[in-house]
Amino acid sequence: MTVRTRFAPSPTGLLHIGGARTALFNYLFSRHHGGQFLLRIEDTDRARSTDQAVQVILDGLAWLGLTPDEPPLFQSTRAARHAEVAHALLAAGRAYRCYASAEELRLMREQALKEGRPPRYDGRWRDRDPAEAPAGVAPAIRLKAPRDGETVVEDLVQGSVRVANAELDDMIILRSDGTPTYLHAVVVDDHDMAITHVIRGDDHLTNTFRQVQIYQAMGWEMPRFAHIPLIHGADGAKLSKRHGAVSVLEFREQGFLPEAVCNYLLRLGWGHGDAEILSREEAIRLFDLDGVGRGAARMDYAKLTHLNAVWLRAADDARLAEEVMARLAGKPGLVSDDVARARIQTLMPALKERARTLVELAESAAFLARTPPLPMNEKAQALLDAPGARAMLGDLAQTLAAAAFTPAALHDALRGFAEAHGKKLGEVAQPLRAALTGATTSPPIDATLAALGREETLARLTAVLG
Ligand code: GLU
Repeated sequence: MTVRTRFAPSPTGLLHIGGARTALFNYLFSRHHGGQFLLRIEDTDRARSTDQAVQVILDGLAWLGLTPDEPPLFQSTRAARHAEVAHALLAAGRAYRCYASAEELRLMREQALKEGRPPRYDGRWRDRDPAEAPAGVAPAIRLKAPRDGETVVEDLVQGSVRVANAELDDMIILRSDGTPTYLHAVVVDDHDMAITHVIRGDDHLTNTFRQVQIYQAMGWEMPRFAHIPLIHGADGAKLSKRHGAVSVLEFREQGFLPEAVCNYLLRLGWGHGDAEILSREEAIRLFDLDGVGRGAARMDYAKLTHLNAVWLRAADDARLAEEVMARLAGKPGLVSDDVARARIQTLMPALKERARTLVELAESAAFLARTPPLPMNEKAQALLDAPGARAMLGDLAQTLAAAAFTPAALHDALRGFAEAHGKKLGEVAQPLRAALTGATTSPPIDATLAALGREETLARLTAVLG
C-alpha cells in the first residue's frame, strides 16, 4: 500500500498557522513512508472561494516547501460525482429521499429543544412509501444510518473513539437542489483520491463518525484517521488574531524563515526525545504519528523567535543578503543594488549572529546600503561631538587611507593607531563606528570596515568631518 495523505483547506483568504501544521504533518508522514502528499481545495462555498484565496494557500505551501505531488483537486469540480455516489446509495437502499419541508424541520427542532433533546431529524421518510411523496417537492437524499450499535473510530492519535448510533440522525448527503453536503463530498473525494491516512485537526473528530457511516454504506475501504489537537494561544483559548500573527503570510512578513516556522510547528504537538532543532531531512526520518501528543498545543512566539535565530545563523549568506535587499527595496538614499548586495553579503556572517528575524537583520544591515551623510542616532552624534573626536577621526582617516582592507590588517592598523595615540581600542573604535554606521552598535569594527571598503569608509569619514 502506498501511503497517500492530503491537506484539504477551505480557501478562506488566509493559510492559518494551524492549517500549515496540518499540512506539514501530512507531508512528513507521507514522506516518511515513501508515499504521496496531495492537496484538495475545498471550495464548495463559492462566495468565499476566490482565486485570490486559493492563491494564498498555494503561495503559503510553496513558501513552507510543502509542495503537493499532484496538481490540486478542486472539490467544486466534483459535484456530479458526489451526486452519483448519493444516487448509488439510494439504489442500494442505503439512502432515501426525504420530502420534509423547511417548516417541518423547524418544528422538529423546536419540539426537541422544548423537550430538552438534541435536535435531530426523526427519520419520518426513512421507511415511508415514496408514493406518498408530495407533488412538486424536490427531495433531499439522506443516508439510512444504522440505528443500533455504535460507530467506532480507531484514531491513530486519539485512540478508540466511539458514539452510540442512536445519537446520530440520518444526515443529508445530497440537498434538494442537488448539491452535496460537505461531509459527503469529503468522503467521496478521499476515496477517489485513494487517501490512506486522513490527518486533520481534532475539530473534525465528530464529523468522522458520520463519514465512517458513508464509507460503510458504500462498502469502501476506510482510510486511517489521525486527529491532531488544535493550536491554542498562551492563555489556552483557540489561537486567534488577538494572540499575535496567525496567518503564514504574517509570519513571513515578520521576518521568520520557512525552515524555522516548520521546525517550530513540528515541535508544537510532536516530539522525539529531546530533539529540538530539526532539519527537513531529519523531520522526515523521525516523524510518525506515535509522537503526536493528545493535549492542545500552545503557540509560543518567544520560542519561535528563538528557533528563528538558530536557523538564521545556519542560513546561506547570499540568500539572507537577498532577503535583506528585498526588505530595503524602495527606501530612499540607497546605493546601487550591486554595491549594497556585495557589502551586505560580506558582513552577513557577523550580521546574522546578532539578529533574530529578517526584520532585525534588515535594520542592522541598512547602514551598509546608505549613501553618506548617514542619519545619526543620538548616542552616535554625542560620540562625534565629544571634544577631540573629529580631530582623532581626521588622523585615523589618513591611517586607513594607507591600510590594507582585510579584517586582520584593519584590526592591526586600528590597534597600532590606538597605541600610538595613547588610547584604548574602544576609544578609537566607537567614534569610528558612529561615523560609519550612524549608531553605536554594529558587528566588529574591522569586519564592518572591510565590508564598506576603503573608498566608502573614507567618504563616510569625510562626511562627518565636515
Ligand atoms: N476543509 C476542512 C478545513 O479546512 C478540512 C477537512 C478535512 O481535512 O477533512 O477545516
